[in-house]
Amino acid sequence: MSKTYEDSINEILNEFPNFNWNEERKFLAGSLEINHTYFDEHIIDNFFIEIMIPYEYSITLPRVYSKDKKVAFSFDHIYRDGMLCLATDADQLCFFADGHSLNDWIKHYVIPYFFAVDYFKKYKVYPFGEREHGDNGIISFYAEKFMVSSRPDVIKMLDCIVNKSYRGHLLCPCGSGKRMRNCHKDIVFNRQQDKYQRILKNDFISLASRKEKY
Ligand SMILES: [Zn+2]
Repeated sequence: MSKTYEDSINEILNEFPNFNWNEERKFLAGSLEINHTYFDEHIIDNFFIEIMIPYEYSITLPRVYSKDKKVAFSFDHIYRDGMLCLATDADQLCFFADGHSLNDWIKHYVIPYFFAVDYFKKYKVYPFGEREHGDNGIISFYAEKFMVSSRPDVIKMLDCIVNKSYRGHLLCPCGSGKRMRNCHKDIVFNRQQDKYQRILKNDFISLASRKEKY
C-alpha cells in the first residue's frame, strides 16, 4: 500500500521539474526555485543543489548539498563539504515516521532552509529561530514536541516512552505533579508506537549517557 521509492522520486520530478534524477547514483540535481513568503517577506531566488536519496530514506536520511556556493560558510548551518544542516536527525526521522512524503520533506525543510539563507543575508537573524548543534539542539526539539522545558524533563519523558511505562495513575514524568492520564497521556501513547521507538531510543541512550551541560 505504501508508496514505493520510485513513486516518491517521480512525485518530486512532477512537482520540481527543474530536477534531474541520477538513477545510478541515486541523487537529484537541479535548481531549487524559491518564491515564498514567510513573515511578510517575499523572497525569489534559486539555488543549485543535489539531494542524495538513500533507498530507505526514512531511516537513513536524505542529504542536501549546495552546489553553487550561494550558501556562505558564515551561515552556521552548512558543513565544509557543502552538506546542509537542515534540522536534527530526530526531527526529520519523526517527520517521516509521521507519514510525510519526500515532497513534504522538501517543502518543510529544504525550501525554508534556503529562504532562511537569504533572509539571514539581509537581516542577520534567522526567520524561524535556530536550533543549536549537538545535544542542545536535540533537547530543544524534544522539549517543543513534549511541551516541557528542561533537559532532565526531556530525558524523563523519553525514559517513560522508550520503556513503555505509561500508567495512568502514576505521576507524569514531565514534573507537573499531575497524574499521567490527566497530563501527557496522548503524547506518551502516540510516541510509544514502534515506528518512533527506534528514533527515540537512540537519542535517549546517547543523551542519558552524557553529563548534563547546563
Ligand atoms: Zn505531563
